[in-house]
Amino acid sequence: MKPSPLTRRCTSCGDEHMVAVKRRWTGFGYEDDYECPSCHYKVALSQPGLVGLQILVWILGSSIFSWFWVIGNRFADFFDYGFVVFIWLIGAFSCLPEAWQLRSHRATGFIPTATSLDETDTTNPSDISQATSRVFSRFGALLMPVIAILAIIGILAIAALIGYVKDYVL
Ligand SMILES: [Zn+2]
Repeated sequence: MKPSPLTRRCTSCGDEHMVAVKRRWTGFGYEDDYECPSCHYKVALSQPGLVGLQILVWILGSSIFSWFWVIGNRFADFFDYGFVVFIWLIGAFSCLPEAWQLRSHRATGFIPTATSLDETDTTNPSDISQATSRVFSRFGALLMPVIAILAIIGILAIAALIGYVKDYVL
């Protein structure tokens, strides 16, 4: 896979043209290795879409867990509440530092590409896929969780429809 097309701000010298030189598979997702052209500062950043999904899973998972463990439990005591807080904190420590890293090395723009300079190529389909990948690089942290939620709603709607057809139509 190609590294992210985004340029990012260097936290070491303030240069706004840090570029991703390599994309690596970490076992959980892709990370981009960014390098600053001015001071050679290096940093590995998770894909924004992946971090967005982790935050979604953290909030949804912890909410469901909290519901079952204390809110729906009339006999919840001090230790149950402590345990739920602990679960929330574990999730926070696992995904918020990555989100913070992306935030502090904020995106500043896109690397100029050969195709965008070539004006005769503006209507070919690869530009559309390139545009899509740019939108995802830029807004992935918000888009991915939204798409995941829509997909879940879609699956539930289809399941409900199948159930409805089976019960009332057939
Ligand atoms: Zn720098």
